[in-house]
Amino acid sequence: MLPYVDIHTHRPTGQAVELRTAGIHPWDAAEGDTDALEAELGRAQAIGETGLDRLRGPEMECQLRMLRDQLELARRYRLPVVLHCVRAFEPLMRELAAVPLRAVIFHGFIGSRQQAAEALKRGYYLSYGVRSFASPRSIEALCATPAERLFLETDDQETPIGEVYARAAELRGESVEALQRCTLANYERIFGEPLSDESVL
Ligand SMILES: [Zn+2]
Repeated sequence: MLPYVDIHTHRPTGQAVELRTAGIHPWDAAEGDTDALEAELGRAQAIGETGLDRLRGPEMECQLRMLRDQLELARRYRLPVVLHCVRAFEPLMRELAAVPLRAVIFHGFIGSRQQAAEALKRGYYLSYGVRSFASPRSIEALCATPAERLFLETDDQETPIGEVYARAAELRGESVEALQRCTLANYERIFGEPLSDESVL
């Protein structure tokens, strides 16, 4: 059986391909310690989640400082980044443009089809979850995201990853298996062979 890739979860189950990340969330930017983060990077597959949130967390200047430091670490250690973005798409895209990064994944993508297209044009990946399904414009974005740039996730929700795939498959008019195949290929392209990862299956 093909595994599910759950690219961003706060409730790891060990039943799916789950990412090991280390990062300072934008909500915690005021207390963030990038030296401590750097010490943790040895066992991380990606830096995350970092990003910008205009609805919650410390002032933008503080979030920006922490984001820039983490993007710099990602560049230096050649690590992909997993991004949290709430009402901050344009400033976040500006910050990303300034740093060459191995891979960029927007987690829990909520946004328009146009915003999705801008991110896709730069080669970024978009990950969708339960909250995306509640937003009609994000469903449009999901349906317009090519399979080779798509991820799915549970985030902090209780909905099992299998149900997230079933819902996305229904919305996109594809089979769950086709989605599993493409997200697994995307994962392997960025992170290498998932079966070599002891946290998997
Ligand atoms: Zn988040």
